[in-house]
Parts: sequence; structure tokens; C-alpha cells
Amino acid sequence: MSGDRIGSRALRAAALGLGLWATTGIAAAHATTACPGNPNALGTSRTLVVDPTEHPRIGTMQYRETLPLKDHEVVLTFDDGPLPPHSNQVLQILASECVKATFFIIGRMAHQFPEGVRRVRAGGHTIGTHSEDHPLHFNKMSPERIRQQIDDGIKHTAEALGDPSAVAPFFRVPGLRRGEVMEDYLVSKGIQHWSADFPADDWLHISSDQVYSRAISRIEAKGRGILLLHDIQARTVAALPRILQTLKARGYRIVHVVPATPDRPKTPTEPREWYLHPPAASVAMAHWPRVPQFLFVSTGTLPGPALSDSDLHGGKLPAPDRSRTTSEPLQTATPFHAALNADNNQLALPVPAENIFARPEKSAALSYGVSPVVMPVSQRPAASRLRDPHGGVRAENGPRLIPGSQPIAQPNLLAPSTVIQR
Ligand SMILES: [Zn+2]
Repeated sequence: MSGDRIGSRALRAAALGLGLWATTGIAAAHATTACPGNPNALGTSRTLVVDPTEHPRIGTMQYRETLPLKDHEVVLTFDDGPLPPHSNQVLQILASECVKATFFIIGRMAHQFPEGVRRVRAGGHTIGTHSEDHPLHFNKMSPERIRQQIDDGIKHTAEALGDPSAVAPFFRVPGLRRGEVMEDYLVSKGIQHWSADFPADDWLHISSDQVYSRAISRIEAKGRGILLLHDIQARTVAALPRILQTLKARGYRIVHVVPATPDRPKTPTEPREWYLHPPAASVAMAHWPRVPQFLFVSTGTLPGPALSDSDLHGGKLPAPDRSRTTSEPLQTATPFHAALNADNNQLALPVPAENIFARPEKSAALSYGVSPVVMPVSQRPAASRLRDPHGGVRAENGPRLIPGSQPIAQPNLLAPSTVIQR
């Protein structure tokens, strides 16, 4: 049977792979449609090629954008390695499931365990960096120290691989302590900063069962994204097989992310795919382009009006009692209370930008077909010429008022010399 032949070919290929990587102890699992030796493997569903300069900051734990994944697609990431034996165990588990991940390597670890970094590359994974020494106050360090930490981490990882081009322009800051200096420097070097979409808290003193349950519940809550794990932790090694099995059972797919190169063009994507929840404003603009510029400048909220603030008295305004200097408690038992539950009193409304209520005079005038004319006082018609034969003031000869607008203050329209004369 052809299927048997393919199967035996795959086994021979796997055996060959084992022989090839015997010196490194890795069961080689090259990117093929089938996973040698594991017909039920989770596998890697696709490779996503990204241009780091187009979307320099990703991961909804800290940023608006994240990787352009489809529903039920997950990207696995591992920080802080390489460190034997746990990093090797993680690599073996991933290889047995034919899953490709991204590793954020610490420069000092690469310097100490260069063979570990080479094993990551031999497994076909993407290699990013995670600073030189993993300082946990990254956002408080001097700009020089920040640059040095980033540069040295890349340098030692590249040295371990013997090939600077094998290091992806992907960086994750230790402890997710992001800051502007770091972000600006990464942008200047064309490096993408990877936050994450969900952690599994595997750096905390929790059980591997808790790592598993937190990983799965958080993935389920968002539906897609970047999972943050640490390949140097025994609890992560213990939890990883169950995490992968559950992802497979629940229909999740693993995506491998690599950087674009001159020979490897980026995967075409739409801007809105880089949002976990595309902003509602851009959706509205896309379908209704004539909506004027309507931006919420603040995400803060104002409390909605509550009935208890109302001064309704049986449907009538209470007569002011001028004999009192302090206000009386408001009546709360209006007929409307029975029909409304408490939640209705707790509405929160977004704060609109102040400028949406005021249209600039000039653009308002243009939209009404009136050309705004700025004219020095000396050239203006004499006051007598403004009067019409019937004795009234002809409005069209005076400054026009756009309905709903405020007149422009006169001094602003005058030449400086005229202002001084006044
Ligand atoms: Zn770390």
C-alpha cells in the first residue's frame, strides 16, 4: 500500500534524522506535513513570516497589536534558556509533537551553554534574544546600559551559533519591563519587541498542574495569541506535554513565526488582523467614511446619570425654596424606580474629545459654501454702506455667522499694525 510505503519512508527518514543528530541528542523533526513516529502529533500548521519593522511591538499583554493569527492559532515562546537539562527536555517534547516555537535566549546563558543554542536551531525553532544578563529593572536602567544589554545578548547568541544571520530580530525584555528608551532603540535597529498574549505563570512557585490550567484557561479566554513559557523550569517541562495534547484535542493549531528576509517575503496581512479586537472606530470608518473625525482621546469613563441624582418630584420640578440655605435630600421613590434595576443606574459613558463639539470656523464656512475673507479694517465697507435702503443692517454684508458656531474674535483677523492702533 502506498500509505505503508510512505510510512516506512517516514520511519527511515526519522531514523536517518536520529543518526544525523545523534551527537546532539535531538530527535530531528523537520518541517514536513507528517510527523515521523507520531501520527497523532499536534504538528505545526503554518509558518508566518513577519516584517519586524512594520509592526515593531506586539503582544496584547502590553500593546494594542499582536501577531496576525487566526482563531485557535497559538504561537509558543520560551524565555531564559538555554539551561540543561530542562531546555533539552523542552526541545525533545516539541520535537516529538513536531511543534516549532520561538526561543528568547539570554546572552550569558548562550555564552555558557553554546551547545544549547545550537540545539534550538537544530530543532528548526526561531531564535530571538532576551538581553545579556536578564536585569529585572530594565525600564529603570540608563540608556547606555539598556543598549549594552540588548547588544551583548544578541552578540553572544550569534557567537554561539557562529552566524549572526541565525538570530532573528525578535527581542523580549526581561520581566516585560518595557520602556520608551528600549523600544526606541529596538526600532532603530529594526528589531521587533515581543510581549505576549498570555502567560502561564511558570516562573512562580506553583505546581505544573497550575501551569497547565492557567495556560489552557488563558488561551481559551482569548482564543488565539502568543503563549509565554520558560524552558528553564522543571514545572514547565512537566506541564508542556499536557498543554500540547489539550491544544490538539481542542482544535488549536501551532504557528511558527520567522522574520522576513530578502529571500523570504512577509506573509501578506491586513492591518486589522494585527488586533485581537479590531478597534470599533476603524470598523465604523471603513463602512461609513463620511463620519467626521470622531476620536475618543481618553479611555476614561464618566458615570452615567443615576436616578437618585434626579430632582423629579412627581413629574414636576420642585419649586425653589429660597428660605433654605442647604438642599434637602432628593426624593428617590419615583414611579420609574420600580421599572429600573440598579444596573441601569451604573451606566458608564466614554469621554468624548472636547474638539468634536467645536468645528473650526474656516472649515465650517467652507462646508456651507462661504469663502472666509480676511479683510483689513481699512478696506472694509464703510458702516453706512452696510445699511440697506430699508434702514436695516444687511446681514450678508457683515461677518457671517455659521449656524451653531461662534464668531471669530475680531482681533485675530486684523493685521498686527491695526491691532496696535486699537
Ligand atoms: Zn525572562
